[in-house]
Amino acid sequence: MAETLVQIELKPPHGDWRDPHVEFRKGSICYSAAPKNLTALGLPNPRAWQPLDSDWKLPPDWKRIILDGMKERLHKYRSFRLFMDICVRCGACADKCHFYLGSSDPKNMPVARAELMRSIYRRYFTLTGRIFGALAGARELTEDVIKEWFYYFYQCTECRRCSVFCPYGIDTAEITMMGRELLNLIGCNTNWVLEPAANCFRVGNHLGIQPHGFKDSLDFAADEAAEITGLKFEVPISRKGAEVLFVMPSADYFGTPHYYTLLGYLMLFREIGLDYTVSAYASEGGNFGLFSSHDMTKRLNAKIYEEARRLGVKWILGGECGHMWRVLHQYMDTMNGPADFLDVPVSPITGTVFANARSTKMVHICEFTADLIHHGKLRLDPRRNDHWIATYHDSCNPARAMGLLEEPRSILRAVCRNFHEMPENTIREQTFCCGSGAGLGTDENLEMRLRGGFPRANAVKYVKQKHGVNLLTCICAIDKATLPTLLEYWVPGVEVAGIHELLGNALVMTGEKERVADLRGEPFPTEADAAISASGGNHA
Ligand code: SF4
Ligand code: SF4
Repeated sequence: MAETLVQIELKPPHGDWRDPHVEFRKGSICYSAAPKNLTALGLPNPRAWQPLDSDWKLPPDWKRIILDGMKERLHKYRSFRLFMDICVRCGACADKCHFYLGSSDPKNMPVARAELMRSIYRRYFTLTGRIFGALAGARELTEDVIKEWFYYFYQCTECRRCSVFCPYGIDTAEITMMGRELLNLIGCNTNWVLEPAANCFRVGNHLGIQPHGFKDSLDFAADEAAEITGLKFEVPISRKGAEVLFVMPSADYFGTPHYYTLLGYLMLFREIGLDYTVSAYASEGGNFGLFSSHDMTKRLNAKIYEEARRLGVKWILGGECGHMWRVLHQYMDTMNGPADFLDVPVSPITGTVFANARSTKMVHICEFTADLIHHGKLRLDPRRNDHWIATYHDSCNPARAMGLLEEPRSILRAVCRNFHEMPENTIREQTFCCGSGAGLGTDENLEMRLRGGFPRANAVKYVKQKHGVNLLTCICAIDKATLPTLLEYWVPGVEVAGIHELLGNALVMTGEKERVADLRGEPFPTEADAAISASGGNHA
């Protein structure tokens, strides 16, 4: 019940913050990674264990491994050393984390989360820490510290909201990434991160869907798009010589409401006659390596450029996803590039040169579609979305890691007549995370997800009460998978959809039959419905 989780204790806890003892409870932790997944990925210390066990079966020299790993990374990543050194503990970030707001656990304040690592850094890598110990904020590295790291570094969605408010630009998400990377070295990882990573490594996508399953899913979607529009659809798979390689998160072809977004893409590509292909090898844009380590991120990302090279395409287009875009936008070019064999992307319809993708050679579907709309290349009937009163959730990575703020909104305004923004301090760069990113979107962790998602849900509730909002749109596969549960708990009556689902509804395709229902099979609204929506009425 929502009444239960909203009761949070705001009194400061007793005891010293340096005490690493953590109470592991079901509902607030993710299960450990299955040994088979560690083995598949070549990671150390595969064994059966769970966070609730007292003995975590760490390797005998675990302490040396962690300290050596930390030393190596302090040398390799200048940002890591900088973030260890420059925090002045001003507290500007303290109340900016959704996990702190939803749980009131002080160690979920970003500054305190980072301090769990800094205290070890001080003890083993600074002179003052070595000499003055606790007086200099240093702590001994013990097994309890490892357990505390595991608890709190898997209670951070690496969303980077805190970094927006830090006067020094400290990115606590990067500290969390380092924490997880170090934990990996001694075999402390979660299954919800490593199983998708292992599947991706073996087969190319998170669920381990084989190429024939991939083809079946896309054929099914093509048939459904044909049924809706009366037109013939084909989805080209691994076609050599296409102009564009389209890469999407695998959730788009196996989950709902993602699947409706896929229908929207297919309809758009057919309508504009895009010369494209998808790939059964690069069948996943998402990259759970990002939630594990830099090496894993690189390994899982490599297939995209490799497949672009093999197929001989000119450039790459990417679908609606969150963390996929952090990897593509910030890391891909340096990790697996330069992609000199590709062209700077140019829209074949409008001639727009996507100069922002000059180095990655990869364009976001929202940039591409917004450009088409801007140039008047699509016939749209937004009345077909009159049954929705929409708001927009800026998914963390496209918003903060890419600055993709206006394009989704410009599409939304063109395809939907009822759109209301959530409060200013909860959108755009300041957007609140869904609470389930970075590999936390699993049911065993549900209580913490609902707590972490509370600030986002609260903002949705505000626009629901004020404007009758009944649809939360977003452009992230994890959001689409986890927000429905969050909203069902905190704001029942609000559904979740991708931007390209609404585009597919509104798109008037050349030669289409008279369409009577939206992509979910719901009848299009009548004039009477439209009048109620226009007046801000609630259709939920
Ligand atoms: S806002 Fe930045 S400097 Fe201030 S406490 Fe947080 S991380 Fe440290
Ligand atoms: S990155 Fe996000 S989840 Fe992690 S500490 Fe900062 S605000 Fe919290």
